[in-house]
Amino acid sequence: MLMPSARPLGELENPSEFIPRHIGIEEADEKLMLSAIGEASRRALIDSIVPRSIARRDAMKLPPPASEAQALAELKAIASKNSVYKSFIGQGYYGTYTPGVILRNILENPAWYTAYTPYQAEISQGRMEALVNFQTMVCDLTGMAIANASMLDEATAAAEAMTLARRSVRSKSNRFIVAGDAHPQTIEVIQTRAKPLDIEVVLANSAEEWDKALQGEYFAVFAQYPATSGQIHDMRADVPVVHGKQAAFIVAADLLALTLIVPPGEWDVDIVCGTTQRFGMPMGAGGPHAAYLACRDDFKRSLPGRLVGVSVDVHGNPAYRLALQTREQHIRREKATSNICTAQVLPAVIASMYAVYHGPQGLKRIAQRVASYTAILAKGLEQLGYAPRLQHGAFDTISLQTGEETKQLVARGHSLKANLRISWEGFISISLDETTTRADLELLWKIFAKPNQKLPEVAKFEKGVDSLIPEQLRRTSGFLAHPVFNTHHSETGMLRYIRSLSDKDLALDRSMIPLGSCTMKLNATSEMIPITWPEFAHVHPFAPADQLQGYAQLDSLLREWLCQATGYAGISLQPNAGSQGEYAGLLAIKAFHESKGQGHRNVCLIPSSAHGTNPASAQMVGMHVVVTACDANGNVDMADLRAKCEQHKDDLACVMITYPSTHGVFEMQVKELCEMVHKHGGRVYVDGANMNALVGVAAPGEFGGDVSHLNLHKTFCIPHGGGGPGVGPVCVVEDLVPFLPGHETGGVKSHGVGAVSAAPLGNAAVLPISWMYCRMMGAEGLKLATETAILSANYISARLRDHYPTLYASENGHVAHECILDLRPLKETSGVTAEDVAKRLIDYGFHAPTLSFPVAGTLMVEPTESETLDELDRFIAAMIAIREEIRRVERGEWPQGDNPLKHAPHTAAALLKGEWKHAYPRDAGAAVLDERRHAKYWPPIGRVDNVYGDRNLFCSCVPLAAYED
Ligand SMILES: *Cc1c(COP(=O)(O)O)cnc(C)c1O
Repeated sequence: MLMPSARPLGELENPSEFIPRHIGIEEADEKLMLSAIGEASRRALIDSIVPRSIARRDAMKLPPPASEAQALAELKAIASKNSVYKSFIGQGYYGTYTPGVILRNILENPAWYTAYTPYQAEISQGRMEALVNFQTMVCDLTGMAIANASMLDEATAAAEAMTLARRSVRSKSNRFIVAGDAHPQTIEVIQTRAKPLDIEVVLANSAEEWDKALQGEYFAVFAQYPATSGQIHDMRADVPVVHGKQAAFIVAADLLALTLIVPPGEWDVDIVCGTTQRFGMPMGAGGPHAAYLACRDDFKRSLPGRLVGVSVDVHGNPAYRLALQTREQHIRREKATSNICTAQVLPAVIASMYAVYHGPQGLKRIAQRVASYTAILAKGLEQLGYAPRLQHGAFDTISLQTGEETKQLVARGHSLKANLRISWEGFISISLDETTTRADLELLWKIFAKPNQKLPEVAKFEKGVDSLIPEQLRRTSGFLAHPVFNTHHSETGMLRYIRSLSDKDLALDRSMIPLGSCTMKLNATSEMIPITWPEFAHVHPFAPADQLQGYAQLDSLLREWLCQATGYAGISLQPNAGSQGEYAGLLAIKAFHESKGQGHRNVCLIPSSAHGTNPASAQMVGMHVVVTACDANGNVDMADLRAKCEQHKDDLACVMITYPSTHGVFEMQVKELCEMVHKHGGRVYVDGANMNALVGVAAPGEFGGDVSHLNLHKTFCIPHGGGGPGVGPVCVVEDLVPFLPGHETGGVKSHGVGAVSAAPLGNAAVLPISWMYCRMMGAEGLKLATETAILSANYISARLRDHYPTLYASENGHVAHECILDLRPLKETSGVTAEDVAKRLIDYGFHAPTLSFPVAGTLMVEPTESETLDELDRFIAAMIAIREEIRRVERGEWPQGDNPLKHAPHTAAALLKGEWKHAYPRDAGAAVLDERRHAKYWPPIGRVDNVYGDRNLFCSCVPLAAYED
């Protein structure tokens, strides 16, 4: 008998094992798909789509693919170069315990983290309820009228508060007064944001300077409460002074402190912002965390970011939906209030659940413990001969003058694995938090004690110590009285509440989410695992650089790989969403022109098909937006662009294009376009949201782009989280590298345009996800992913050709990685709209494709490479079944006003109602595909009434009768 011949070790070890797990299409599938498209091979298909002039000549230089286990082991070695010290740094980042039930069932649960932004209200009721809880929590704690559903971080929230104030007040001044004892990173971001808008930031560095500044002219003032030093200033008397100037008062406030101190809403301030990090989200070297923004009722129509409102569905039941600002940039373009699109939904859900879990009593107890420990710490330090500065009291942070000794004390802390903060020259600040223990207090005293000095003992204070909060600033009002914060306090109850919400929603763990432009691909479990490793999760963004070596290496490797993928020379991972990458990239272009003495170049050309964030970002850097036309094929109208380049040749700053275009085609003339812009002295911004059609195939940095942002939460596998977190790296060519963003406070001296996010590495804690993806895929895997994404889009377009024509295609009929299905003619023949089809897809168990972007009345489908052929076929079958339903309406079998599309989605309750009065049978309403018979998705509500919701804007928890009393 012959022994089986040995197989090479490489094959047995199979380091490429992850590639076919990420990519849903197998070789046999590919043949079927190609034949439907009418191409002989994948190579031939790609060659017929990607213009030869831009095709990459060289493969990306990346390490060869690693298996899941091997990549995790490598990343663990990198992570272990971070040192997890006990942090007493504070400054907006605190230790916190993520309750286990929330950690496992939300942060680590794909039902939550793979969900999309809740634009389709009927399949998003669970996460919107959590966001309404978030908004209610923020309103209650701050005492404000209205709060949005999250901001990117505290510093950018403060900058947004600044521009919200400017839009909303009567003062015409351009001065913005900032208390010098606000968090330094917040001041930095405010300065970056103010500069291009001609806002003059005036820092008030003492009580005298503050009082004097308040007598002058300004449109708003900003202060931290409690201050970064821990002092709790009583600013109540200042508010009427500010209002007397027709100006706004903005406060950045700590939510845990607000359980014990008088909330700013009760002293009549106009805007309150801050972070919710310490409500259960680990520090994660700076993010992701949800920031919040709350304002007085008169400002609400100008509030940036997303706001969840309460409306009703067709059956008259309460229903949540995104209110007012939804897709605001898409409508108002350069007049939009802000460029925020992706925010921090998952961290906001976690913060809201932290409040649901602890309830008002629990939160108060945590805060009282922190305050009490802080008071004990101060007593002990006094006993050791120090004089903590407590003129204005303290909640969790005390500052003390340590003079010459400062460096030595900090070093002694490091030797005991504890980080203290040098807040000013010769001053140390110590912040306590939820995780502080008695042992920590004794550790701190040990650091400060002289040799042989007797150490204080916590046990001496067993009876408890009153907090240092000034008498007149103690909160007396209640908060979080709504039942949701007072019901789910057993773990069983909490577990079921979380589960009941996620059960209402459709996320990637149930079916494909074929969203054009948003790339909802696999977020592999192995990619997610490292984000909660303590070495990544429990480090402070401003810890000494030598404790953050793991992050430094992660940052440098990922930047190197992304440079390979994009063809650019330099990258910053600091922007924490695509919109922020756009902003940073445009700032770089602006700074470049200024450095050449061409600061007057401020015209930004943007094709009419651009994503709404593009014009909104251009406006934020003070550029003048000029819109250029698109031709009948969806391409940039080259003649119009040429004319506008010519017309603005003296003041052209840049052109912003998306490639492949938002119309889903590879424009043949993109290289010429770039050359033309360069010839007229402008730079080319290539919006990288569509990189899923380019990685490994073509590189914007090679074909003429000067700047791009990436969306790591689209192309590089960071999950969408229901609308964030994201990471929006900004990538630039060589001569723009000096203008990338940087931090003053991060140890690295700032260069270029300053800080655009609170933390030096932005949403650092989710970077391991993209690192794992690149590491497991390698150059070949990434390229195959791109080609498969293009293959799948073309397959869908071809299979649906006879039912829904694709609006834009290249001459050979092919599309890029997404296709726009034109549903507009159906309106005429059947009265059916794209929205009806989107809602009907819910009955069939699918999340709708992108609705009415970039063309009204269409659906844009992007299948991605991760879906299997089975799933693509199920989606196609649903779309065809819906087309057949429309045909019945066209034939007059069902009335235009009473058919399964118009009444979609159908709830179980609506179908089970005693009497059935519709022109179509009940089972047609239910719309169960054979394959889905055992896994039918039932929407919890019928179609939402948007008009009602906009007319009756209501954005906190639905009041129950008991609550109103
Ligand atoms: C998603 C997207 C953006 C904005 O990115 P965010 O991360 O949501 O801020 C910009 N441009 C295009 C084309 C996009 O699809």
